[in-house]
Amino acid sequence: MNALTPTQVESLKERMLTRRGELVVEIREKLAESREHSSLATVEQRLEGGDSALADLIASTDMAMVRRDVEEIREIDAAIGRIEAGTYGECTQCGEPIGFARLEAEPTATRCIRDQSRWEREHGSGGGASL
Ligand SMILES: [Zn+2]
Repeated sequence: MNALTPTQVESLKERMLTRRGELVVEIREKLAESREHSSLATVEQRLEGGDSALADLIASTDMAMVRRDVEEIREIDAAIGRIEAGTYGECTQCGEPIGFARLEAEPTATRCIRDQSRWEREHGSGGGASL
């Protein structure tokens, strides 16, 4: 497998940022329906903040659905951090390129397909978001 071209990285980043925007809207809508309505402004501030602010947000909400969205935002932010650090697209386990096809399916992937299947075997494959 080849390393990613700058164009490929750019298109994946674009998709992740679009997805991040959708997630923020989703979280806002879910919170608006909930009794945590009053903390909405705080949540929005935190979404604009850094990673530790998001961790606070996760700690402060007990809504499973929102939690999942916030986790996804964290994954996106981490992936964009890896783009900026120049390590995006490398498997965190073996350092090999993850491959564009796999990243297209899952832009926030941190493992190559081989290490991912091993991880799923070791941790149980249950309930992951597979396409
Ligand atoms: Zn690997």
